[in-house]
Amino acid sequence: MTPLDNDPDAGLDPLAFTVTRNLAAAAPARREEILQNPGFGVHFTDHMVDICWSVRGGWHRPRVQPYGPITLDPAAAVLHYGQEIFEGIKAYRHADGSVHTFRPDQNGRRLQRSARRLALPELPVSYFIQSLRELIAVDEPWVPSGEDQSLYLRPFMFAKEAFLGVRPANKVAYYLIASPAGAYFTGGVKPVSIWLSEDYARAGKGGTGAAKTGGNYASSLLPQAEAYENECDQVVFLDQDRNVEELGGMNVVFVYKDGTIVTPQSESILEGITRDSILQLARDRGHKVEGRGVSLEEWRSGVASGDIVEVFACGTAAVVTPIGVLKGRDFLDQQPTGDLALSLREELTDIQYGRREDKHGWLVRLDGAE
Ligand SMILES: *Cc1c(COP(=O)(O)O)cnc(C)c1O
Repeated sequence: MTPLDNDPDAGLDPLAFTVTRNLAAAAPARREEILQNPGFGVHFTDHMVDICWSVRGGWHRPRVQPYGPITLDPAAAVLHYGQEIFEGIKAYRHADGSVHTFRPDQNGRRLQRSARRLALPELPVSYFIQSLRELIAVDEPWVPSGEDQSLYLRPFMFAKEAFLGVRPANKVAYYLIASPAGAYFTGGVKPVSIWLSEDYARAGKGGTGAAKTGGNYASSLLPQAEAYENECDQVVFLDQDRNVEELGGMNVVFVYKDGTIVTPQSESILEGITRDSILQLARDRGHKVEGRGVSLEEWRSGVASGDIVEVFACGTAAVVTPIGVLKGRDFLDQQPTGDLALSLREELTDIQYGRREDKHGWLVRLDGAE
């Protein structure tokens, strides 16, 4: 099955991109120097993709152009009302030099769901995947080949119409930029400590929690700062019923003594593609998987009784991260650690880097001919 089966946009003609090469592209030696130690989100490739959208013209003017500042009218709606969405997906270099990405149809569809919620236009999934290919066609040398390195791709879309009235913008821009990413953990994966946010929520019923939109992140910064003040790495949010939601950038997964895997499910949780993939791999191994509400009480008493044997977080950037500690205003629960999280992490990254058979057909080649 190809990723575009069942896609209503699959019959669309590809866009005709105009390509303007960056004449001030980084010299190969400088690029190699960056790729030796790329960090995360600090260096960017030489090019970017943009596609315009307007009510009248639909998607038009697809371009690959030199990476650089965007000119925006100060009245651009995104700067005032936050009408913006984004995605996060990686390109992986395999041992034979080829470049692949992972389940881009899923990211394309999620971008459409986010668009619907934020009253933005839906980019056809085939255009989304084409945009990834167009960027790799010019910036392929930026895909690093070191262990656990990747090229992080950041598609995003925002309201660019200059208008201060409150309504969905009539002019929108889609962009794709890319940033080489080093191994998230240097010196091996280590468990993170989590601060329980009691005063702040990231989303509410009927809100934008399930959409990948900047506003959800803006509202998480203050509770994240509170986590740091309490010497924790990350924050976990609860919903109005005191059910566990997520970390704000990573989903949460619980492993029970009998092998059952449980992950919180609610309308206000962002549905991670990493989580979905990890849960599929667990099902393949015979684990029972449940998506349902998990109360804070169930988490804490499950850990205390030994019913819960592992807790981990997952997302594209860090893949899988064991949770070592849950800290609240008046408690500190040491979390049990096992091998399942790390073994699922290894299986997933083996598939992504082409070291293990891709049984589910999740990889899509981005470089060269299709
Ligand atoms: C992106 C994101 C995740 C993780 O999703 P992946 O597809 O696994 O990267 C989880 N929560 C939030 C709020 C996110 O924005």
